[in-house]
Amino acid sequence: MSQINKLLSFFLPRPLLTKILFLIVFIIYGALISGISYHTSNYYKDKETKTKLIQRQESTFENKLYSLELKINSLKNDLIALKENKTFKKYLELETNKEVFELFSLMINSDKDIYQLRFLDSNGNEKIRFERDNISSPVIKIEDKDLQNKASRYYFNEIKNIKKDTIWFSRVDLNEEYGKIEKPFIPTLRMGVPIYYNEVFKGVLIMNVFFENTINNLVNSPFFNISIYNKDGEFIYNKMKIDSKIVDNSWSMSIKRDFNFFKYLEYIENKFSNEDINSCFLSFSLDTVIPNDDKLTIFYEPNENELIKIIENERNYILIVSMIVLGLSIFLAFILSIIPNLLNDKLHKLKDTLEKKIRVIDEYVNLCVTDKNGVIIDVSKSYCNLTGYTRAELIGKRHNILRYEKTENRVYKELWETINNKKIWEGELTNVKKDGEIFNTKILITPELDENQNIVNFIAYSQDISYQKKIELISVTDELTKLYNKREFNNIFTRSVENAKRFNNPYTMLMIDIDFFKQYNDSYGHLKGDYALESVAKAMKKCCTRSTDISFRLGGEEFGLIFIASNQKEALVFAKKIQDEIHNLKIEHKSSKVSSYLTVSIGLFFSENIRDFSKDDIYQRCDDALYFAKKAGRNNIYSIDTLSF
Ligand code: GH3
Ligand code: MG
Ligand code: MG
Repeated sequence: MSQINKLLSFFLPRPLLTKILFLIVFIIYGALISGISYHTSNYYKDKETKTKLIQRQESTFENKLYSLELKINSLKNDLIALKENKTFKKYLELETNKEVFELFSLMINSDKDIYQLRFLDSNGNEKIRFERDNISSPVIKIEDKDLQNKASRYYFNEIKNIKKDTIWFSRVDLNEEYGKIEKPFIPTLRMGVPIYYNEVFKGVLIMNVFFENTINNLVNSPFFNISIYNKDGEFIYNKMKIDSKIVDNSWSMSIKRDFNFFKYLEYIENKFSNEDINSCFLSFSLDTVIPNDDKLTIFYEPNENELIKIIENERNYILIVSMIVLGLSIFLAFILSIIPNLLNDKLHKLKDTLEKKIRVIDEYVNLCVTDKNGVIIDVSKSYCNLTGYTRAELIGKRHNILRYEKTENRVYKELWETINNKKIWEGELTNVKKDGEIFNTKILITPELDENQNIVNFIAYSQDISYQKKIELISVTDELTKLYNKREFNNIFTRSVENAKRFNNPYTMLMIDIDFFKQYNDSYGHLKGDYALESVAKAMKKCCTRSTDISFRLGGEEFGLIFIASNQKEALVFAKKIQDEIHNLKIEHKSSKVSSYLTVSIGLFFSENIRDFSKDDIYQRCDDALYFAKKAGRNNIYSIDTLSF
């Protein structure tokens, strides 16, 4: 029983412990969920950021390229418009038309990005030259005396040799005057067109453009560090951030720097360890807009600080969401830990009730659990009290430690057959206590089966019916002789006759009456008479060796005996044995007329065909036989169908 208690305590920890346990479990669960969601979101957000960045790069580039295209187209249109202008054509024809200067002045003033507009004749002589120093300075016309011959300059020769009506683009470089780079640097893009008049080459139109100004819009972006480099990897534009300083690497080919695009690439590849950012470098060609020999490429490096800011913002957002999830989980954990706790409380109350019941059962119910071989594995306290053994003395012993030797084997055989067939056995058993005292129990044995219907053990519930048995015995026993009384004779007589009839067994009964007992009492007194009655009863009992031999006191000095005999002779032998046994008691009876000792007369009934007789017939015949035994002189055995002897 204590094992059940231990088991209950194991499965039902105290409420506070359960609450803490559930809280911890749910908080861990919540933390896990928020952790996983934080990492998953981060992963996808990083990917999203990268995609967004690439999209932004592409759209930025498209916009910038479009505005550059507009700019270049407008310059191209200026050149074409000038080439086709009537005033200019007139000048080509006459070379004296002064109106052409006004035309050139108008043209250069219309666009601040043009810093030089020239016409060189077919020999390379500068004929018309307008220029400005910088974007904000006024346009000046160069006097004839300052005009130079540019026949040896590459641009003159290149333009001279291209097809008619094609716009020529120079490589981008820093402007040189008299073979030296002009300072401050004037990054220059030259655009030119050959001029023909009446299919005769007349010279070239050249437009110098402030390139820095043209690409200004191209290289400005808060999210990217944008560089432009040419086919040799030389920078046209590059402003690199090293720590907080900005290092200008532009025009690396003109200003002899040993830093070019390839070295820059090495530098940034080392700088960005994050693969996602690393894969965000993008480059686009500018060749479609500026189709020159530079093969310009624009390169986008993500602005690290801006990127980190974006990523950090996203991460902070995810962190906040994860913290909310965690908070909610803790709150939920708290709520959820209450529910099992309420359940646990209920279970605890149930457990207490159960424990009380178990205690009551242990105290007052005789329970004995045996394994399938009958070895005791558990007993209640009450069972120990009943048997006088301790738990330790009983556990491990076979149940037959309590067996009463006189109990017939067939009782146990039937018991084991029943319970081994997985049925309940119910019956009465006589057992022996540790001190040897006999006690009677009413027992109910239930086999316990496992899920495969195999016997695991047997639970025996016994009820002590010893007291009841004693009362029963008193009510059926004659007080003086301790033989069954007349009432019990009636019961047993009825049952035994019915039983014999059912199986068609022979039936035997004796009626025994003490001879001249009235005289005995008169001679020796009532007390001696009682003693004699007791002695006769003992002598009868002595002869009743089989369980089927049952003796009764039918009243006064008259006794009955039911026993089993297979024929009349056997019945007479048994009757004679009783008669002799009583005679051999040698109870002196001086007033007897047949013997000096106490004698009995016996009426015998025997029949092999019991079905021919009613109960009353049997009794009457037996009584009649006794009557004849008396009449024949007493100390006789008489049967209705037999002669006395
Ligand atoms: P018979 O040989 O014909 O049987 O003669 P009997 O005297 O034995 O028979 P009877 O029926 O005339 O007398 C029976 C006597 O048994 C009467 C009574 O005094 C005596 N008796 C009956 N019950 C008791 C008893 O419980 N104790 C004593 N001491 N005597 C009893
Ligand atoms: Mg008598
Ligand atoms: Mg009598």
